[in-house]
Amino acid sequence: MKAEIIAVGSEMLTPFRQDTNSLYLTEKLNGIGVAVAFKTIVGDRRKDLVDAIRFALGRTDIVAIMGGLGPTEDDMTREAVAEALSLTLSRDADLLATLKARAVAWHRAMPSNFVKQADVIESATILPNLNGSAPGQWLDTTFADHRKLVFLVPGPPSECRPLFDAECLPRLRAAVPVRHIAKRTLHAAMILEAEADSLLAPTYTTYTDVETTILAKPGEIQLTLLCAKPNLEAAQQRVDELAGRLEEILEDWLYSSGGESSESLEQIVLYYLGLRGATLAVAESCTGGMIAQRITQVPGSSRSFLGGAVVYSNEMKTTLAGVPPELIARHGAVSREVAEALAAGIRRRAGATFGLGVTGIAGPAGGSEAKPIGLVHIAISDAQKTESIERVFPGDRDRIRLLATQQALDLIRRRLR
Ligand code: ATP
Ligand code: MG
Repeated sequence: MKAEIIAVGSEMLTPFRQDTNSLYLTEKLNGIGVAVAFKTIVGDRRKDLVDAIRFALGRTDIVAIMGGLGPTEDDMTREAVAEALSLTLSRDADLLATLKARAVAWHRAMPSNFVKQADVIESATILPNLNGSAPGQWLDTTFADHRKLVFLVPGPPSECRPLFDAECLPRLRAAVPVRHIAKRTLHAAMILEAEADSLLAPTYTTYTDVETTILAKPGEIQLTLLCAKPNLEAAQQRVDELAGRLEEILEDWLYSSGGESSESLEQIVLYYLGLRGATLAVAESCTGGMIAQRITQVPGSSRSFLGGAVVYSNEMKTTLAGVPPELIARHGAVSREVAEALAAGIRRRAGATFGLGVTGIAGPAGGSEAKPIGLVHIAISDAQKTESIERVFPGDRDRIRLLATQQALDLIRRRLR
């Protein structure tokens, strides 16, 4: 079954407010096997609202309408839904009494327009709103001879979400055919989205019953595989089969296929360090502590992470990581030699199993032809050997620092694998 979500409110057509409720609803709808095919944001104009509702009724089975249920002049969702479905609207006596009682409890006279919150669409079920005054409404109705499930929920997130969970979700669950959803999330580091897609698309496009989406962040892609079937095992089997094939294609790029969508590169690094009983220390120049920050964000990181130094100046590279001044004078602070000396030096000083050194030019100033902005050297060192990589990252200062951090974590991961 397909759904459309309509967010009502002119404020969401300004640069200042976003429709966030629909993200919440989409997750819940997906969870019961309902795909969201369309999302519409419509301003507080009656004709536009009626048009949007008619459009939605014409193309989907489930229509969720959020907002515009309040008492003000611009709240007209009830009227618009009734008009779109050619149903009448009538004032409910019990609701009216409840609204009056609320006003009394607030020691206020009820404003005249407050009463319209007691208007109920013909054949609708009233959905109690425990967090506000405007109730929701549920309709199991027909439009152009097709069955339609339509519900109205208030716009404020603190009202919309609990009301949807308590009143709409159970009704939807009972009405839609049972579908079980199997899900898997694969994570890969330092591969470009376009590169990943051209490698993977020939395979995942043949699995038409599995929905594959790629989400890209700097230095990382996340592939989500979703399959809905009447039988969970069948859905899981399809997802696992496709995941297996994609894992083979991604090879070393892949760092996690566990399914936990929150699994991060630093968590994987710590997991590997823990397995080996190994420890890590870092000496960071251009990343300014970002690597240490990401690692220490993970609870329990103290078991494997000893610490780090932000060695921005040449003097600090020498004082804290033992880099010989001559080496810096000869090769420059941004060089393979200095990155390797940072890694080896911090490892020795911290008494760690592994040392990591990063040095680079994040810009916007300081680049040259030989050493352009974005040039980063990253080295990793243990008792046996020290190795390093050189990259030139694109983008602005923020992006270069982020990519350098990500690349450094990926370098440790690959070394530990
Ligand atoms: P009220 O009784 O508060 O008037 P309502 O159902 O009329 O309830 P709106 O007036 O449409 O709701 O919205 C109230 C508040 O909720 C506004 O601040 C609005 O920005 C916010 N809101 C409305 N819709 C959404 C949405 N889809 N996502 C996030 N916030 C929303
Ligand atoms: Mg309102």
